[in-house]
Amino acid sequence: MQTVSADVAVVGAGGAGLRAAIAIAQSDPKLSVALISKVYPMRSHTVAAEGGAAGVVRAEDSLAHHFDDTVSGGDWLCDQDAVQLFIEDAPRQLTQIEHWGCPWSRTEEGRVNTRPFGGMKIERTWFAADKSGFHILHTLFQTSQQFDSIRRFDEFFSTDLIVEDGRCRGVVAIEMRSGEVFLFKAKAVVMATGGGGRIFPFTTNGAIKTGDGMAMAYRAGVPLKDMEFVQYHPTGLPGTGILLTEGCRGEGGIMVNKDGYRYLQDYDLGPPDPWPRKKAMELGPRDRLSQAFWHEMKKGRTIDTPFGESVYLDMRHLGEKKINERLPFVRDLATSYVGADPVKVPVPVRPVVHYMMGGIHTDIDAKTPIDGLYAAGECACVSINGANRLGSNSLTELLVFGRRAGLGAAEAARTAGDLADAGVEAQGREAEARIAAIAGRADGGETMAGLRDRMTKTMEDGAGIYRDQALLADTINELADVKSRLGRVPLRDTSKVFNTDLTSILELEAMVEISETVAHSAIQRTESRGSHQRLDHPKRDDDAFLKHSMAHRQGDGAPRIDYLDVVITTSQPAERVYGGAAEAKDAKANDGKAA
Ligand SMILES: Cc1cc2nc3c(=O)[nH]c(=O)nc-3n(C[C@H](O)[C@H](O)[C@H](O)COP(=O)(O)OP(=O)(O)OC[C@H]3O[C@@H](n4cnc5c(N)ncnc54)[C@H](O)[C@@H]3O)c2cc1C
Repeated sequence: MQTVSADVAVVGAGGAGLRAAIAIAQSDPKLSVALISKVYPMRSHTVAAEGGAAGVVRAEDSLAHHFDDTVSGGDWLCDQDAVQLFIEDAPRQLTQIEHWGCPWSRTEEGRVNTRPFGGMKIERTWFAADKSGFHILHTLFQTSQQFDSIRRFDEFFSTDLIVEDGRCRGVVAIEMRSGEVFLFKAKAVVMATGGGGRIFPFTTNGAIKTGDGMAMAYRAGVPLKDMEFVQYHPTGLPGTGILLTEGCRGEGGIMVNKDGYRYLQDYDLGPPDPWPRKKAMELGPRDRLSQAFWHEMKKGRTIDTPFGESVYLDMRHLGEKKINERLPFVRDLATSYVGADPVKVPVPVRPVVHYMMGGIHTDIDAKTPIDGLYAAGECACVSINGANRLGSNSLTELLVFGRRAGLGAAEAARTAGDLADAGVEAQGREAEARIAAIAGRADGGETMAGLRDRMTKTMEDGAGIYRDQALLADTINELADVKSRLGRVPLRDTSKVFNTDLTSILELEAMVEISETVAHSAIQRTESRGSHQRLDHPKRDDDAFLKHSMAHRQGDGAPRIDYLDVVITTSQPAERVYGGAAEAKDAKANDGKAA
C-alpha cells in the first residue's frame, strides 16, 4: 500500500470538486490538496449539462423571486437559510467564473443572456449555448491548473473513508492503472462525487454516476438525507436516456401526445390535488410534467416506440436559425440518436431519472456531522433542492457550496494541529484487505449484470414516478435479496491493470446500499410532496412530514430512518402554484403554434 499525505483530500473532480480545490488553493497556497477522481476531470458528469445555471441578473428579477421559486419548487422541503445564502451568492459565483473564462452567451447589447427554465417566474438561467456544463467544467479545470498546491490523482477509484477518533483522516483509493491501493492521509476531506442515477434503468446520468461517495459517507456513519426524492426529467430520448435540455421548452418547444394534442393544458401544474387549474404548461416544474406523462400513458394517449411509451417534443416552429443558434447540441443529439431532426420533425421523448435531491447530510457550511468531512454538489444535501430541484440551480450549487466546502475543509486542516497516524494506517490496511478479498471470492453463481438488472428494475417498479406501500414493500424485499447475494458475484478478471470488473463490483455494492435508503425513506414518508408521489397518500402532510428524512446505516440490516426539522425563515408552506409571468410568456411565445 502506498501512502500520500495531503492537508486536504478532495474526492471528485467535477464542478463541485474543482471549485472546492480552487477555494482551498486560493485561501492558503501552503495547504496541499490531493484531487482524486475515478475519471479524467473533464469526463465528470458536469460536462454533460446543457441548459445553464441560475442566478439573478435581469433588472426585472430579484433575489426574492429566486428564493420563492426555489422554495416553492422544492415544495417547502428546502432549508430556507441555505436557499437565502445560495441565491445571494449565485450571481457572484457566476460572474467569478466568467472572469476565469466561462463564455456565457450574450444579448445583442452585450449583456449576459438568460433563458427561462421550468418553475421560474422570471428567466434567470445563464447559458453557454447548450453546452453550459462543458464550458463551466473547462473553466474550472483550467483555473485549477494555475495552482501548484493541487496535485491530481486521475483514474483513482476511492473506496473508503478513514475516520479515526471521530475525525475524518483520509481516504483509500485504487490506482486503476496499476491496481495498487493507496492511502491518502489528510486532515480534512471533501466529498464531491456526484449523484447516483444509475440505480434506475433509464437515466440521463453517465455510467460513472453510481453514488460511490454517498455510500462511502453512509458507511462511515453520516446519515443520507431526503433520499426518497429522485427527479425525473420529462424529456429524455427513448432508448438511451440522453437528455434534451429544459432549454428546449425554455426556448418555446411544446409537448404533444400521440394525437398531436398539447396535453399539458389538461393538467394542473400547480398543487397535486386536485389537478387541472393553472397552466404553466411546458414551463411547469419537472416533477409535475413527468407525472402528467404517466397520466397520459394510463389514458392510452402516448406513442408506442421500441423503447417504451413516449410523447413528442415539437420544436419545428422555432425555425432552423434559432435551433442552430440556441440548441445546436440538441439538434445533433436528436438527429444522431433517434433520427429525428428537430427542425423537420417532432422528437420522441419520455421521462427519465435525472437527479437526486437527497445525499450526504451537511449543514449550511457543507460540513457533515463528522469533523473534518465536508460534502458538496450532487452527492450532498444542504438542502436547497427540497423535494424537487428547480432546473439550473444545480450547476450554481456546485459553485456556491463547492467553494464553501473548500473553505471549510481548508480551515479544518489549518486548525487540526498534530494528529496521530497509527490508527489511520491500520484502517488503510483493513480496506486493502477487503478489496483483496473480493478477488479471492468463490463463484457463488451470481453475475454482476444479473443483480444490477434486478436492482434497477425493482427501483423503477416500486420507487419510480408514482409509488405506493405494496410496490415499495416489494422493492425493499427485492433489494434485501439482491444485497444478500452480492458476496456471491465472483471476480472474473483478476488482472491488475484497469480492472473494471473490480470497480463495477464496488459500484454495485454502493448502488444497492443507496437504493435501500431511497426505498426505505420512501415507504416511511406517507404523503406526496414534490417528486415523491404516493398513490395511496396523494396529499402533502405538513403536520407529519415537513421534515427531512435521515437514513442511518445499521450494519448489514435495513437503514433506520429518523427526521430532522426543515429550516423555515420567511416562507410558510403554501400551495405550489405555477402561472403568472411564466404562463403569460409561454402563451405569448407559442401564440398560434399550439396544436
Ligand atoms: C445530462 C445532464 C444535464 C444536466 N443539465 C443541467 C443544467 O443544465 N443545469 C443544472 O443546473 N444542472 C444540470 N444537470 C445536473 C448537474 O449537471 C449535476 O448535478 C452536476 O453537474 C453534478 O456535479 P458534481 O460536481 O456534484 O458531480 P460530477 O460532475 O458528477 O462529478 C463527480 C466526480 O466524482 C468522481 N467520483 C465519483 N465516484 C468516485 C470514486 N469512487 N472515486 C473517485 N472519484 C469518484 C468522478 O470521477 C467525478 O470527477 C444535468 C445533469 C445531467 C446528467
